[in-house]
Amino acid sequence: MSEPKSKGVLYLVATPIGNLQDITFRAISVLQEADWILAEDTRVTGKLLAKYEITTKMIPYHKFNLKRQSKKVLSLLASGNKIALVSDAGTPIVSDPGAELVNLAVDLGCAVVPIPGACAFLSAFVASGFESGGFYFVGFCSKFENRLLEIGVPLIFYEAPHRIISFLKKLLDFFGNRKVVIARELTKLHESFYRGNLADFVSNSEDMMIKGEFVVIVDGCKKIESYDDSFILRELQAEIDKGRSHKKAITLVCEKFDLKKNKVYSLSLQIK
Ligand code: SAM
Repeated sequence: MSEPKSKGVLYLVATPIGNLQDITFRAISVLQEADWILAEDTRVTGKLLAKYEITTKMIPYHKFNLKRQSKKVLSLLASGNKIALVSDAGTPIVSDPGAELVNLAVDLGCAVVPIPGACAFLSAFVASGFESGGFYFVGFCSKFENRLLEIGVPLIFYEAPHRIISFLKKLLDFFGNRKVVIARELTKLHESFYRGNLADFVSNSEDMMIKGEFVVIVDGCKKIESYDDSFILRELQAEIDKGRSHKKAITLVCEKFDLKKNKVYSLSLQIK
């Protein structure tokens, strides 16, 4: 671990995703004590600063002025300034600009300090009811690559409000009728969750009030769906042909393909 060479500090400060109370004491004091706040949208961040009586000056920093502003920010960091990066909502860098600035600040020898807090996908995931054995964060997804079909843990997507219905139709076409949890307007007045499957959601979507911001979590690939009965039977037969007992063959096939024992057992009854 190396010590920072420059006195400048880049803070990555999480801000609320809707409810202005979702901010930490530490985030407030870092924003107050910073020399500058880099804000994705100064009007949005201005409301937050006004609520907490934070008087630090803002510099606009968004995807359209990244390159130009990064130079300015680097020279501020080089001369020892403390800079706090915030996004419109939630944790900066998560589907938001700033990763490049982090790398530039590291190269300059500055400390880069995350100030944790709200993040839309994590709030959605913890309330989703999906097992916590892992998840795959996709974020915004313009192209569905086939490798996504094989992922065995829930997949988490962001989508802009005006595209949500067509996006859910695309998810249904691509993944088939998987289980889905849709978290809407998290931490806000109209926070709600849809828990069901993609086909039901899409067929009822015309009657629903589809407004606001969404996180969509699609269940991962269930391996049992990937192997048809004849495939499992062949695998069982192959183990038995090697001289293994039915019981042992069932155990081995379950382990190898991550299958449920009762399904493989009932198939094994077909083998004499
Ligand atoms: N950096 C943010 C974070 O930490 O989650 C995400 C920023 S990304 C540009 C914006 C997307 O996050 C939205 O299109 C939506 O998918 C999701 N999002 C943000 N706030 C949300 C909220 N209150 N409820 C549901 N989804 C939200």
